[in-house]
Amino acid sequence: MDRPAVIPKTAHDLRLAPNLVNYDATCRDYSWAEARQAMDGLPGGALNIAHEAVDRHASGPLRDRTALRFVARDAAALDISFAELARLTSRFADALSRLGVGKGDRLFILAGRIPELYVAVLGSLKCGVVVTPLFSAFGPEPIATRVNLGEGKVLVTTDTLYRRKVKAWRERMPSLRHVLLVSDEGSPTSEPGTLDLASLMAEASDQFAAVPTAPDDMSLLHFTSGTTGTPKGAIHVHEAVVTHHATGRFALDLHDGDRYWCTADPGWVTGTSYGIIAPLLHGVTSLVDREEFDAQRWYTLLEQERISVWYTAPTAIRMLMKAGAELVRGHSFPALRFIASVGEPLNPEAVWWGKDVLGLPIHDNWWQTETGGIMIANTPAFDIRPGSMGRPLPGIEAAIVEHLEAEGEAPRVRVIETAGVDGELALRAGWPSMFRGYLNNEARYRKCFAGQWYLTGDLARRDEDGYYWFVGRADDVIKSAGHLIGPFEVESVLMEHPAVAEAGVIGKPDPIMGEMVKAFVSLKGAYSADETLRLDIMAHARKRLGAAVAPKEIAFLATLPRTRSGKIMRRLLKARELGLPEGDTSTLEGSGQ
Ligand code: AMP
Repeated sequence: MDRPAVIPKTAHDLRLAPNLVNYDATCRDYSWAEARQAMDGLPGGALNIAHEAVDRHASGPLRDRTALRFVARDAAALDISFAELARLTSRFADALSRLGVGKGDRLFILAGRIPELYVAVLGSLKCGVVVTPLFSAFGPEPIATRVNLGEGKVLVTTDTLYRRKVKAWRERMPSLRHVLLVSDEGSPTSEPGTLDLASLMAEASDQFAAVPTAPDDMSLLHFTSGTTGTPKGAIHVHEAVVTHHATGRFALDLHDGDRYWCTADPGWVTGTSYGIIAPLLHGVTSLVDREEFDAQRWYTLLEQERISVWYTAPTAIRMLMKAGAELVRGHSFPALRFIASVGEPLNPEAVWWGKDVLGLPIHDNWWQTETGGIMIANTPAFDIRPGSMGRPLPGIEAAIVEHLEAEGEAPRVRVIETAGVDGELALRAGWPSMFRGYLNNEARYRKCFAGQWYLTGDLARRDEDGYYWFVGRADDVIKSAGHLIGPFEVESVLMEHPAVAEAGVIGKPDPIMGEMVKAFVSLKGAYSADETLRLDIMAHARKRLGAAVAPKEIAFLATLPRTRSGKIMRRLLKARELGLPEGDTSTLEGSGQ
């Protein structure tokens, strides 16, 4: 069916006046210094995310409002008020202090969406400790790589995850001084070399004044993947809270009294910035579902929890679409006011599906680990062009640029003024949540900037009305179910299998996950390609990398295409897989040119 190119907003969409109404005037007059005034702040110009998100509400009129509501299939819902969250995070911060862990130390969390994870993130920020939540579906290899790169001093995890993924690798993480365990069985854990978190919390004080961190003190370290080498630790600072607040207002349209649900896991940047921090800043109640995706359950939660603002992802929407519209029958969502999505391209059918099935269109928005917060968005007051990511938010200047020949190391670019031309998406540096470096990799960080422009690594186009359209990534990084996966990390683990001589990993288009991880391997001479070996390599990858990162398909090739300098040509593997033109192969080894 041909659909109109624009979805106009209706009175139903706009039954509450949106926070951003006059786009042009707001953008023109916007100042981050003014946005900063919405923060409470601490004496001496200090700024602490946990103070803004929790403590300021705990001592004000919202103290008894539910901050976080945890639901699970086999357990009663758990509501934690702002006042209680302040006490719990104080206990956590005090427990860390008693262990001699303090400002600038690094803490990692490996857990599902349990209350302790939220307490640990906010409690760490409260005492100035730098925090990294890790995705609980990671295998031991990605966990150890990140803890070592980040020189983690403390790891908070559950006793089950510890036994399954950490214990055997503990000696390979020499910086870890303390492992704090959440008991899955309810009784204190007895794993040697670990401490029981509940016991430490019980002994700690529930009064702890937030450490007066400076706005540019490190707050969170988020790992992201590149095309080559180990993952990159993107450094974020406490000042990011200004962007989280502003975008919670403009892009998520949070209003007093909202009931909000972000479906992203805190192991990824969206789940931290918008699953923990932004809603708390606005004093709204956030739902946390501890279960994995289940279409029927999600509709029930949207309805019964009276969710008013929902932030989700294209893969989840496509899974709901696949589950069929019949599942929605019998449900109604009168409280639902605004739906947004992020992380991958949102296809126009998905935008329309929201309108047809849930009664509201889905608002795509764009950002990435490095930007720390939403940069480009479809916002509630404006008509939607399905397929577009929207327009830059107030305080954000975006452009499409083309690369010029560089003199030396630093990239040089030129802004493409003409609408409708593909180029790299760039953002003028200077918004508060911008990453401040890649940990221990200044050279890589500098390569992200051409003068004042931060280069995102995404290809996009701008139309005549200033809407941005995603075109693709400029690199080989894979986006699978919204998760960024570095091919190099997967290839390195495949190469550790005794039979594998070479490995090349690509993202293969998938109708639900966006892309799926597909590996091509060639074998050492003594091995022959058969199904048993394929399954064995697959099992090896799953065990080391975890289900979220391991390849879903492995194919054998006699040799892998390489450049004459020896690099595997993933681009060519992908073109061949998809039956696309092979493009420029002049650098291909043996090409004879
Ligand atoms: P991450 O750093 O893991 O959050 O991944 C960021 C990347 O996800 C971006 O650089 C894009 O390639 C992709 N991405 C995020 N949001 C969108 C979107 N709305 N449309 C298309 N791609 C997106």
